[in-house]
Amino acid sequence: MTLQIIPVGGYSEIGRNCTLVRVDDEAVLLDLGLHMDNYIAYTEDLEDLHSAKDLSAEALIRVNAVPNIHKIQDLWPKIKAICITHAHLDHVGAVPFLSNKFRADIHGTKYTIEVLKTTLGNEKISLRNNLVDHPVNSKFKVSNKISIEFINITHSVPQTVVIAVHTPYGIIVYANDFKLDNAPVLGDKPNFQRFEELGRKGVKALILDSLYADTAMKTPSESIAKEMLKDVLLGVNSKGKAVIVTTFSSHIARLKSIEELGRKLKRKTVFIGRSLSKYVDAAKDAGIIDLASKAEMVRYGNKVSKYFKKVKHPEKYLFVVTGHQAEPGAVLSRMVYQHLYKFDEEDHVIFSCSVIPVENNIRNREKLDKELKRMKIRLFTDVHVSGHAFREDHRDFIRLLKPEHIIPTHANVKKLEAMKELCTEMGYRHDKVHILHNGIQVNF
Ligand SMILES: [Zn+2]
Repeated sequence: MTLQIIPVGGYSEIGRNCTLVRVDDEAVLLDLGLHMDNYIAYTEDLEDLHSAKDLSAEALIRVNAVPNIHKIQDLWPKIKAICITHAHLDHVGAVPFLSNKFRADIHGTKYTIEVLKTTLGNEKISLRNNLVDHPVNSKFKVSNKISIEFINITHSVPQTVVIAVHTPYGIIVYANDFKLDNAPVLGDKPNFQRFEELGRKGVKALILDSLYADTAMKTPSESIAKEMLKDVLLGVNSKGKAVIVTTFSSHIARLKSIEELGRKLKRKTVFIGRSLSKYVDAAKDAGIIDLASKAEMVRYGNKVSKYFKKVKHPEKYLFVVTGHQAEPGAVLSRMVYQHLYKFDEEDHVIFSCSVIPVENNIRNREKLDKELKRMKIRLFTDVHVSGHAFREDHRDFIRLLKPEHIIPTHANVKKLEAMKELCTEMGYRHDKVHILHNGIQVNF
């Protein structure tokens, strides 16, 4: 018998998540994501790049922008399914480039599949794989020995799931990414009951998002983020001023809160930017929420300047724009540097996000903040809570599932060590907690 976990990407690094679970002559791939920094660094340097369609898988593998699937090349024919946990690019973003290599269907929840379809459509990429959507809290068979279960969990994007891989030799649970939110503003609470049942049945191994294993806290609920936004939007006088909010485009729960608060503020919400419209449309198509019916949409980059020229009373609107990391091509940066919008002194700019701590983002944000301050804009930063579990959530989650083995992932070595320390504190022996590097497998 063979039960193997092979880390393909995202181990001892952040990004390009991909794990292979092998059961004898069958295997499944869990997630197929992009390494965002490496992807952006690589594509920014390509002067004649017009579409993602022009990018070659080999080049992306060479620059570590996608998982190095050559390390598992002898197993390609055994792969029966590609299962995606959620719609973030570091989990699904490599699908357009790599999945043609496999003769396997791609499985995800409806929202994840809708986002993927839009991406493929926009980039005119066709895949030979079928795209199959499943409800949250459902189970399906992908081969003789492997069944997949999608279990509802909370994160910062709708319809995120924890994946349980059921095999004759035990259950592998893949929780990457997640938080334990008892008061989500969209969707249900985590399916605690099912996790407890799996814990009773016996979980062979838990692969665990460890990004904040060293933060001694419970991650605040998304409803706290809504309160923080309420405080800043309704508790600060913005009369006569423009209010501009930026956040993660895929964070539909956050967008919902912003639109609701906009109504309380008696301002019309306008979602501005291509990526916002992509995720808002996917949420509608997945039957989650129709934000476009409550707000105005400016979908295309080239329409933004024209739109702002038409706006006579900015104090009647709540502008939600792309560019929370001050990305140079996004709407907020263009409003500032290309003067798409005529700012007034003391207009409000609200960052409902944190700075993702990589050099490029830090530099871009510092530059943008400086410019906004020079224009005497009122800045509200870090109006945000994380979508990732903190240490005390990890403890509760491990206690629910009682896995025999724990494999920390989605973090640098320092955080993985922090997770190991927590596991030791909880009574795990050293040989039961596996800190892995890409390509180094564990056998059970
Ligand atoms: Zn995520």
